[in-house]
Amino acid sequence: MKTIERADVIYKFDPGNQPVASVEAGETILIETDDCFGSQLKSEEDLITEVDFSKVNPATGPVEIKGAMPGDLLAVDILDIDLGTKGFMVAIPDEGGFGHLIEEPATKLIPVSEGKFWFTPDLSFPINPMIGVIGVSPSERAVPCGEIGNHGGNMDAKVICPGARVYFLVQKDGAMLAMGDVHAGMGDGESVICGVEITARVKVRVELIKSHQFRPPRPVVELSDRFITIGHGPSLDEAASTALDDILKLIRYKTNMPVSEIAMLISAVGNLKVCQIVDPQKTARVEIPKSILEFPDQPVFS
Ligand code: CA
Ligand code: ZN
Repeated sequence: MKTIERADVIYKFDPGNQPVASVEAGETILIETDDCFGSQLKSEEDLITEVDFSKVNPATGPVEIKGAMPGDLLAVDILDIDLGTKGFMVAIPDEGGFGHLIEEPATKLIPVSEGKFWFTPDLSFPINPMIGVIGVSPSERAVPCGEIGNHGGNMDAKVICPGARVYFLVQKDGAMLAMGDVHAGMGDGESVICGVEITARVKVRVELIKSHQFRPPRPVVELSDRFITIGHGPSLDEAASTALDDILKLIRYKTNMPVSEIAMLISAVGNLKVCQIVDPQKTARVEIPKSILEFPDQPVFS
């Protein structure tokens, strides 16, 4: 199994990036990710105001998938996320959902052990590992890893977790997969401005789907029981509207239902959820039961 090392990072999903590794479709790889602060916070004495912002939000990669061409679908199976032992959170004046109440920057060290993160020595929670930043190369404009686009990026969606399969529409030859910003846990909204930020070793398998008809405009996530679209926009309303449009298009592609009926179906059993409210582009997602799109002997994307 190839290992992509933590030092091999990008700060932008840039069509000009050169691959740090090249793998075959079907291969399983181990990707070592740095935390979103580029490991610049070592203790609670280190403040976010002192970090070098040119070194935040590193994503490990990009990894070229041989044979991937624009229009293909890249399916990334998240097999395992092995976390480091030290998580960090920060609070920043005038940033995030509580910025108006926060007077001084603060850093909190959150140890991870025994399958839990320890918010205090008396208050622990089961880890809930997820990948905040994951994407492929955009076709034209370079997008900083802290931002979001149709290629993926900083979506901060809790559903990108072990067991998930994430579909990306390939935009550049080789797809150029990169990821980072793993969280030991995060609540929907990411309200303060971060999750429990931590280094990780992420095991993924990459597959290419060539002969599909449907081109999802943005990443789609598959879990054991759900399909999820993730939308983004300058407001939560616009992010929600995009995620709703995307799931409607996906259902329409797989079924013969009229739009009004699909809209009712989503309203009856689809769940619209907030991913994060703290970046200039907000992200929201819609989750629908898998039974809507599953037909015997017919994969969803074919
Ligand atoms: Ca993030
Ligand atoms: Zn993060």
